[in-house]
Amino acid sequence: MNKREQDKYKKLLLKKRQEVHNAMKHIEEDALKSSQRDASGDLSGYSLHMADIATDNYDREFSLGLATNAQQILYQIDEALKRLKEKGFGNCLSCEKPIAKRRLQAIPYASLCISCAGKQEGGRRRSGSGGEVA
Ligand SMILES: [Zn+2]
Repeated sequence: MNKREQDKYKKLLLKKRQEVHNAMKHIEEDALKSSQRDASGDLSGYSLHMADIATDNYDREFSLGLATNAQQILYQIDEALKRLKEKGFGNCLSCEKPIAKRRLQAIPYASLCISCAGKQEGGRRRSGSGGEVA
């Protein structure tokens, strides 16, 4: 991979990191807002019927799931930036073959080639391998 390509992926990674960061901030603010609503002791909240409460809980769990996922992606982006600096970026961590350009374009932080990612998905369910996009 030449310098120009490296720069391109570095930019992609930094941009992605910013995006994930913004999304996480948004999720945190949302979570904060709903816990503040709980803590306010607003009795009108108790008049909500069960279905609404269930939906609210579901939303919060969903947001927390997203936040965890975002954290994982941030970690993977940092790892990819490290590999970009120290060499090894763009090669599969498992079989060491180059990762397809198309895949890197879609997931610049991918650490596995599509076939290794697929194998991992099939074997043990492990999220955060970057194998969610073909
Ligand atoms: Zn591989």
